[in-house]
Amino acid sequence: MKIVDLRSDTVTKPTPEMRRAMAEAEVGDDVFGEDPTVNRLQEMAAERLDKEACLLVASGTMGNLVSLLTHCGRGDEVILGDNAHTYNYEQGGIAALGGIHPRVVPNLPDGTMNLDDIEAAIRPENIHFPRTRLIAVENTHNRMGGVVLTPGYMASLGDLARRHGLRIHLDGARIFNASVALGVPAADLARDADSVMFCLSKGLSAPVGSLVCGSADFIAEATRARKVVGGGMRQAGIIAAAGIVALNSMVDRLAEDHANARFLAEGLAEFPGVAIDLGSVQTDIVIFALHRPDMTPQQLAEIMAERGVLFLPIGGDRMRMVTHYGIEREDIAYALEQIRQVLA
Ligand SMILES: *Cc1c(COP(=O)(O)O)cnc(C)c1O
Repeated sequence: MKIVDLRSDTVTKPTPEMRRAMAEAEVGDDVFGEDPTVNRLQEMAAERLDKEACLLVASGTMGNLVSLLTHCGRGDEVILGDNAHTYNYEQGGIAALGGIHPRVVPNLPDGTMNLDDIEAAIRPENIHFPRTRLIAVENTHNRMGGVVLTPGYMASLGDLARRHGLRIHLDGARIFNASVALGVPAADLARDADSVMFCLSKGLSAPVGSLVCGSADFIAEATRARKVVGGGMRQAGIIAAAGIVALNSMVDRLAEDHANARFLAEGLAEFPGVAIDLGSVQTDIVIFALHRPDMTPQQLAEIMAERGVLFLPIGGDRMRMVTHYGIEREDIAYALEQIRQVLA
């Protein structure tokens, strides 16, 4: 049976070029800072995002955790969106492991938080209150449908943060999707952030790894945080080698994933009972709702899985599909035809 796996862009497998680079990678002990391939990847990433330094970590979750542990102490507060990945999908690790208090502000459909809502959430100095340290934003915004935050929004957020002496963390798991969709360098989206995390293992198709980027001082502290959560790796150049290929050759092709997502979304919009905001389909993620008395999203996902079309319900009446490397336009056409047969 043909399988069209739209569950996530994390299902992408390393390219032949990545496997070759991994096999041939020069390595050393990265806890001693002696892995030349890791060092090269970290320097490339720093240059790409125009930050002083970067740090390879095992996953996006680890990158966000290490970043927040570096910005915030126990009892400090981070302002973040109610639909943020860090708030919903990371086991509350910032609270469980870091004693960091989350202060939640609603995410708007465009992935932003209203600046007035953020300002109102900042705590004044008062012995009763936690201390606000950080604002965390997400670009692209996963749960809001892969929408992009613009350089203009980031600049306004940066002004607000500086006015209040706060730092900004950017969960840029898919920052290169945002960069390609907007046609601006990723560095422009990262400029107002004190720290940025991005993933190599999603649309960029590397098998493992994320990077945390920031000032040299920030990265020196983040390297300690990475070690305490067990993230100090040894001959990690094997992983970094694939990451170098990802940055060099997998960024520009994300435009294909975005075009396929649009084709998919426009097809879905035609089906009875499907509600979809085409304006939210800006990158590789398609979120839509099913409004039918005869079928829940869970049931639709199960029926479609039997036909080889895989995707995930994400709560309530909503489902998510993600396009990626290895999914061609003809695969989308096949998936749409299968769904049409079930929903028609
Ligand atoms: C996937 C994702 C993460 C976490 O990355 P993992 O490598 O799966 O731990 C963090 N933030 C966002 C927005 C993501 O989509």
